[in-house]
Amino acid sequence: MLRLLVLFVFCLVSVNAYASTVRVLTSTYPLYLITKNVIGNVKNIKLELLTPANGGCPHDYSLSSKDMMRVAKADVLIVNGLGLEAHIGLNKLSSKARVIDTSMGVKDRILLHKTQIVKDLHGKFNPHLFVSPRLNGEIAIEIARHLSYDKNQSRQFMQNAMAYAKQMQKLNAEFVAVTQGLKHKSVIQSHGVFDYLFADMGIEIKAKMQDQGREPSAAKIRFLINLINTEHIVAIFSEPQYPQKVAILLSKETGVPTAVLDPVVSGPLDANLDYFATQMRKNLQIIKRILIK
Ligand SMILES: [Zn+2]
Repeated sequence: MLRLLVLFVFCLVSVNAYASTVRVLTSTYPLYLITKNVIGNVKNIKLELLTPANGGCPHDYSLSSKDMMRVAKADVLIVNGLGLEAHIGLNKLSSKARVIDTSMGVKDRILLHKTQIVKDLHGKFNPHLFVSPRLNGEIAIEIARHLSYDKNQSRQFMQNAMAYAKQMQKLNAEFVAVTQGLKHKSVIQSHGVFDYLFADMGIEIKAKMQDQGREPSAAKIRFLINLINTEHIVAIFSEPQYPQKVAILLSKETGVPTAVLDPVVSGPLDANLDYFATQMRKNLQIIKRILIK
């Protein structure tokens, strides 16, 4: 009897130890970081990133055959859902994976692109949800809601996501506090990446430097200089993933300060769970330094 019991326990342990691993593939680095927080210490999940961790916003990226293999092998595919995947051709691939469209968790917050130029680059909707700490938290909860069909695992994912969302609410409050009471808070940025963050902060984006993903023309630069001189622009923000020479030129011509803000669209694969918050607090210090005179 005892021998049977020992054998039964041994079998249970073995099944648990060799439980099949679920392959979770995220389309972009921000979703990779958020999902890493949702998974936490839950075992038997292999989290992977599809696009390069060290690239910028993946608007121009084309999937390699190796990427396509990973899509084919994925059990769960976590996507932005607002046009980024169409850019990299992911929407044309067939996959057995269950797809989690994270934009569904924030659908009443989605911003439309205002200008035709940005529409051409990104499609109708602005996909850069992930730079807003507030939306990061909501995306985590949407991922936790759909990541597993196992009740216990689901509960753990939701606990992790709720804890992460709480951290993100605190971070959001730090950002919102910076612009309280400021009279002038109009800025220029590289491309539409900070729209959601700045909307949370009440910062108005008067123009974007990039022209259909490329460096602006001489005429566009003249237009921007004129705009900066007439619209009380207080800052010109660029991104580390793109060249800063246009921002520096505009700053020299107008005397308006320029600074680099990191939208955390790229970073190390082995980043700590608080990597996004750490990078964003560096951005916060830069914004404070420029906006609060
Ligand atoms: Zn982008």
